[in-house]
Amino acid sequence: MEAAPAERTELKSLSEGELESFAEAQGQPAYRGRQLFRWLYDKGAGSFEEMSSLPKDFRQSLAETAEIGALQPVGRQTADDQTVKALFRLPSGREIETVLIPALDARGEAKRLTVCVSSQVGCAMGCAFCATGLMDFRENVPAGLIYEQVRRMDVLAEERFGHGVTNVVYMGMGEPLLNYDGVLRSIGLLTHEKGRFGISPQRITVSTVGLARRIRDLAGEDPGTRLAVSLHAPTDEKRSAIMPVNESEKTDLAALEGALRHYHEQTGRTVTYEYCLFGDFNDGEDDARRLAEIARWVPSKVNLLMYNPVEGLDRFERTSEERLDAFAGTLAREGVTVTVRRSRGQSIDAACGQLKRESDGD
Ligand code: SF4
Repeated sequence: MEAAPAERTELKSLSEGELESFAEAQGQPAYRGRQLFRWLYDKGAGSFEEMSSLPKDFRQSLAETAEIGALQPVGRQTADDQTVKALFRLPSGREIETVLIPALDARGEAKRLTVCVSSQVGCAMGCAFCATGLMDFRENVPAGLIYEQVRRMDVLAEERFGHGVTNVVYMGMGEPLLNYDGVLRSIGLLTHEKGRFGISPQRITVSTVGLARRIRDLAGEDPGTRLAVSLHAPTDEKRSAIMPVNESEKTDLAALEGALRHYHEQTGRTVTYEYCLFGDFNDGEDDARRLAEIARWVPSKVNLLMYNPVEGLDRFERTSEERLDAFAGTLAREGVTVTVRRSRGQSIDAACGQLKRESDGD
């Protein structure tokens, strides 16, 4: 009987220390692991042959014992406002979407270039307004391939806008805190001083539906990133109607309040609430007043979003500009810091809640 082929070590996701240990296990000095780190995360090497500073015999043994998880580009669309949505295939054959969002100034220059990454294929959370929620959860995106989404968009940003990515948001497909280890590892790679980015954690935002226990975990580890909570409704009744996660007492508004107070006490950081207005559902004066109470749990700000219609989800309507203005006005009078985010990239379905792949490999 033939022996089963030995499993290869997936290098894209390993930290610098883990690559040092890996190199030593291969009979190499630890600094070879640091060289590997640079090839993978600074130079973006896609093959071992490219790693010219490594000895040939080490490269040969790498080719036999290890692999570099690849992200295969399969499509790209650019919206009228220059937002770019890219489609990538994972090693599993499933696909994810990544969005590059330029904030253009009056002269058309993009000082801020934000990449919105996907942390999962599909999502188990099933929010009623979300295209990704129409798919079930399929798989977590490994840390190295979250990193790779940013790197690919960074190359594109250099080409199109003359400079690289400035901000990263975990707001694409999936609930980041359900891929907790992968997300934290990817933050470590993005912020590593020897990597391509060495990006400040303050320029990274992790967005969650409000998984209370994981918010407490995040408070303990404090990677230094910003936290956004997708709130979208100000009472348990309304929130449970559109976000099944709220139905559990472990993740309802009371649990969320406890977790956010703990998070703020531990880290001193503020919180951003994302609140998408749905016509005649959560856009009334009472909703705004109740939201203002929530916004006072800890120092925070509120981002108001207009709902983007999603094909296959006809339950919700877009609120009117008048109701949006009235809602924002009530919040401001209540002393809440509020910003209205006009969605970017709507012409290519790249706006919040619209990321979805039909052909997800199953
Ligand atoms: S809004 Fe976020 S958490 Fe909710 S289903 Fe969509 S991807 Fe999942």
